[in-house]
Amino acid sequence: MLNVRSLENEDYELVKEAEKVIEHNYRYGRHHIGAAVRSKSGRIFSAVHVEANVGRIAVCGEAMAIGKSISEGEHEFETIVAVAHPHPHEDIEQCWVVSPCGMCRELISDYGKDTDVIIMYNGELVKCNAWSCYRKSILVMSYK
Ligand SMILES: [Zn+2]
Repeated sequence: MLNVRSLENEDYELVKEAEKVIEHNYRYGRHHIGAAVRSKSGRIFSAVHVEANVGRIAVCGEAMAIGKSISEGEHEFETIVAVAHPHPHEDIEQCWVVSPCGMCRELISDYGKDTDVIIMYNGELVKCNAWSCYRKSILVMSYK
């Protein structure tokens, strides 16, 4: 069982920023994930993932957002979230929060043992510590 906490207003704002960046930049087959990270000083950096024809070259939205933040001099992270944008052929109208992939869980916890990740858990948006989520994910491999 994950140790999760309720979202605060600023966390919902972070989700909105992740939605905004992918809503503005969605391209089928190129960009369908948006991510946003809030640094410890309160600045928000959002980015889309970069798809590639060869899957392993693709770069996740979380990595892009962390890279953007670091490039702007913000090296410590409070909270991060990623959302998926629906494709035109899907009967879904809104973005939804997605859990970080295994590589991102590792990356996020490399850069901040106390960074929180916003995830959907038991049908609810919650946040949990990236490091403990990552450690637990080694055992369960998915959020239930
Ligand atoms: Zn990832």
